[in-house]
Amino acid sequence: MSAQVQRRHAAQTLRMLMDAYPGADCALAHRNAWELLCATILSAQCTDKRVNMVTPALFERWPNAEAMAEADPAEVEQAVQTTGFFREKTKSLIAMSRDIVERYEGRVPETMKDLTTLRSVARKTANVILGTAFGRNDGVVVDTHVGRLSRRLGWTDQTDPVKVERDLMELIPSKHWTALAHTLILHGRTICEARKPRCAECPVARRCPSMIPNG
Ligand code: SF4
Repeated sequence: MSAQVQRRHAAQTLRMLMDAYPGADCALAHRNAWELLCATILSAQCTDKRVNMVTPALFERWPNAEAMAEADPAEVEQAVQTTGFFREKTKSLIAMSRDIVERYEGRVPETMKDLTTLRSVARKTANVILGTAFGRNDGVVVDTHVGRLSRRLGWTDQTDPVKVERDLMELIPSKHWTALAHTLILHGRTICEARKPRCAECPVARRCPSMIPNG
């Protein structure tokens, strides 16, 4: 398949998936970019559902970067305990908030370059913030679902998230990058699950090289 045909095929498959999941969006509850940053940090090794149970009280007690920068770590640890790795996550929340207060006057920066200077913010988290909070398609969020589905759909054969992202950025037009991640994540959670994809219910089964007959 030529690169052009491959791009067209991928775009059509993505369109079908986007039609199947018209409401695909970020599942982490948030009201602004800083809250989304906190929720994304808490979502490491934790379900979005669990994070959403913790964040309302967290944001009521510490409503912005200024408040979190001054927070008592022991108190924050208690507030985020049920999300797992709570000591590391507490350190990340406070350090990230201090960086925002000290270097960006309390406002979450809006570029990949600046976002990734914040402690505990790597490219994946920055992509979440840019796409969902600021509506910018600067890259593709590659989490476990996006990586797995991209391989199953034949869009990449890479396992390193940075290389998967590079392949997706070459294959899919930039205007779809944010929607691409939201759509694949939802498809991965509902049908194309890691252990047992339910191919019989999949809207793109006949276009998927990994389709399991009668799956
Ligand atoms: S056909 Fe199966 S493996 Fe392919 S995307 Fe659909 S559920 Fe996943």
